[in-house]
Amino acid sequence: MNIFRLEQFVCEICGYNMIGYLPDNCPFCGSSREKFITAEFCSKKYSIKKEKVTNRVFSLESSPKLGLEHLAYCIISDNQKIWIDCPSTFQSSLDRMEKILFTHHHFLGASNLYRSYYTAFIWIHQYDTQNILAQNHSFDKLFLENFELDGIEAFHINGHTQGFTFYIFEDVLFICDYVFLIKERMRLNPYGSNKRTIYGAYKIKEIIENKALSKVCGYNYVDDYSDWKEKFEELLIRTNF
Ligand SMILES: [Zn+2]
Ligand SMILES: [Zn+2]
Repeated sequence: MNIFRLEQFVCEICGYNMIGYLPDNCPFCGSSREKFITAEFCSKKYSIKKEKVTNRVFSLESSPKLGLEHLAYCIISDNQKIWIDCPSTFQSSLDRMEKILFTHHHFLGASNLYRSYYTAFIWIHQYDTQNILAQNHSFDKLFLENFELDGIEAFHINGHTQGFTFYIFEDVLFICDYVFLIKERMRLNPYGSNKRTIYGAYKIKEIIENKALSKVCGYNYVDDYSDWKEKFEELLIRTNF
């Protein structure tokens, strides 16, 4: 199966996959076209590193590191493997994932290639499909509400991006890039409506308050929940609402 029959390029600065044509500048990070490599070459140059977070959750990341690329996660539920977000590199030797659930449209990675190769179903909040970054990507289920799927709870937040959705599976929180961890300090993601991101942070606090959590899976870190929660509370105290 030739998975690379369509033109596809990967920005080596941020990991963004451009489907169908090579842009003058990366629509995500602004880098010039010389920073792009073909998706086919990308899958030869990089592989996917898998690391254990819990017995049923693993992180996935391009190796060696592909620019600013984010971590994606694989959940092993009772009935299937489900990914949260998607690596920028395509690799054909991974176990089949049935679904890829997105937190938002910034980290679509090579999801179109995984979708074709593994017949995976892509889920994303409808609000995040209109953006230019989602152009030419294929989605199978556009959700509008919170939902529960095979033990994974999805909570639509509408901060950072309009469709931003975070997930909880067992004792693991998947928060992607809603907050940045810079040294010991946490800050809210500055991209998007500041007001909605702050409002959403309070909504997150309310939802996680009564959950028994032990790990937090972020876009570039895995943290113990108690440490993360302490920084998150401190962030909310510092933030005017
Ligand atoms: Zn880029
Ligand atoms: Zn983002």
